[in-house]
Amino acid sequence: MAFKFCSLSSGSSGNCQYIETDNIKVLIDAGLSGKRIENLLKDIEVEANTIDCILITHEHTDHIKGAGILSRRYDIPIWANEKTWISMEGPIGEVKEKNIKVFDTEKDFQLKDLNIYPFRISHDAVEPVGFCLERNNTKISIITDTGWVSNTVRSKIKDSSLYLMESNHDVEMLKVGRYPWNLKKRIMGAEGHLSNEQSGEVISDIISGNGEVVLLGHLSEENNFPLLAYETVKNIIEDVGIDVHKDITLDLTHREKVTKVYNF
Ligand SMILES: [Zn+2]
Ligand SMILES: [Zn+2]
Repeated sequence: MAFKFCSLSSGSSGNCQYIETDNIKVLIDAGLSGKRIENLLKDIEVEANTIDCILITHEHTDHIKGAGILSRRYDIPIWANEKTWISMEGPIGEVKEKNIKVFDTEKDFQLKDLNIYPFRISHDAVEPVGFCLERNNTKISIITDTGWVSNTVRSKIKDSSLYLMESNHDVEMLKVGRYPWNLKKRIMGAEGHLSNEQSGEVISDIISGNGEVVLLGHLSEENNFPLLAYETVKNIIEDVGIDVHKDITLDLTHREKVTKVYNF
C-alpha cells in the first residue's frame, strides 16, 4: 500500500485532508477548530497526537483555523511557503520556532517516504498552492481554491490515482443568490473558485478512465447543492466517453462528515 487518503472536511466553512503512508501521517490544511479536527480524526481511528505534520495551502481562515492550536497541543510542525507564513503568523498564534517549516513553491521536497510538490494556483491569497503527493509512483493531487487551472498545472497533476478537485459553485445559483455583487465577481473571477462546470472541464481533460478516484471538494453551502455538483461534473465527464460508474470513482466530500478512507 502506498497511501491512505480521507477528506475529513471540505467546503467554505473548513478544510482538512488526511494522508497516511507506512511512515508518515499528514494533514493538508487545518481549517476547523482543533477540537473538531481531533474528533474527525477519531472517526477514522487516528489520534491527533500521531500526526507528523500539517501542510498549508494558503492563509484563508477556512484552511488555517486550527493549525496553531494543533501545533501547540501536539508539537506538530507546520509547513507553508514564506509569504503564507508571514500572513498567517498573527492569526494562528505563536508556534514554536522548530515547528515553523518553510517550503518553496514549485520545488519538491521529501518528508519521510512522501514526495511533496507544491504548485502555484490562481486565488486571491498571497501565494496559494495545490499539492501533488507521490510515493512509489502513486500520486495524489489536491487542488481547491483556484479560479482556473493552467495547462502547466494540468500536466503536473495528470496521472494521479486520486484527485481532490474543487467544485465550488453553480454559476446560476451564485448569480441569483444573495451575495453582494463584489463577492460574486470575486468568486467567479480568475482568482476565485472553480464552478461545477469548470471543475468538470478540468477533470474530463486530465483523467484517462483507468480507475482514478475523483473527489469533488470545497462545495459552497450557499451557492451549490451536492447532487447538482455531482450531476454537472458527471455529465461533462460522460461527454468525453468516460463512464463514471465503471471507469472511475466519482464522489463528493462533505462539510459535516469524513469521506471513506481510500487506499492505493
Ligand atoms: Zn481561499
Ligand atoms: Zn477555501
